[in-house]
Amino acid sequence: MVPADDKAVHDLLDFYLEAGVDALLGEEPVDRFAVEEAPAARTLSPSVAAPASPTLPRKGESPAYVAAPPPPDAAAMEARQAAKSATSLEELRAILETFGGCALKATATQLVFADGNPQSRVMLVGEAPGRDEDIEGLPFVGRSGKLLDRMLSAIGLDRTQVYIANIVPWRPPGNRTPTPQESQICLPFVLRQIELADPDILVCLGGPSAQTLLGTKDGITKTRGRWFTFNTGTRDIRAMPTFHPAFLQRQARSALCQTNWACSGARRETAHRTRRPAPRTICRLARPSPPRLA
Ligand code: URA
Repeated sequence: MVPADDKAVHDLLDFYLEAGVDALLGEEPVDRFAVEEAPAARTLSPSVAAPASPTLPRKGESPAYVAAPPPPDAAAMEARQAAKSATSLEELRAILETFGGCALKATATQLVFADGNPQSRVMLVGEAPGRDEDIEGLPFVGRSGKLLDRMLSAIGLDRTQVYIANIVPWRPPGNRTPTPQESQICLPFVLRQIELADPDILVCLGGPSAQTLLGTKDGITKTRGRWFTFNTGTRDIRAMPTFHPAFLQRQARSALCQTNWACSGARRETAHRTRRPAPRTICRLARPSPPRLA
């Protein structure tokens, strides 16, 4: 069914983008061997013809503008050169705004560059923005961000005293994990961001951040709380992986579920016992006989 008005069509397309759909297929199969030349560029009216230089479409732009991002190797090289050319965090942000090498940019609402105080001695790096971060354009503002705020306050810090960024600065569709390729393409930017912010202490939030930045293959349960040396490009600083707040929330939820499950199991068992005549052993357990007097 075709939605009746433009808004419905846009909402539907937004939904598809959110869900990670990044290509349009026709209803009918196309025999590519029978098509002499790629028709797309020829049949498009001049007003919707693809631009000469390949740029990724922003969310909301017509798929007619879609140009494939450069191959990953080329994108990674472009990223390295672009990141190196930034002489300040503002410049780095501006470069990222125009960088077209990461396909995530096409499905994200906006760039999520950083939050907090770039002069801080402590820098925290997470994995990738989620839905709330994508909407607000700031890292760690959703549910896990609230827990991060509490974790910081437990050690006497708040957002004005730390600098926060992510390995990948665009939200992966549907909050999926960034692919290794996406992380590698974005890596030069976060490395340059660390170099320019020049913190004394780097905190890797979660396993993927620790593995990407510290080059370790060990999981977070093994690396968390251990000091590593991280070279910013100009000097060695100390780095420590810790659990990602979202991981802690998941653990807490699952512990709660298990407790609830155990409790409801116990309740069921109790109800079962009280409805039916209990076997003798249970009777004895439930109502122990008084101790015999000697
Ligand atoms: N998780 C992350 O890793 N980063 C964010 O910004 C939010 C959630």
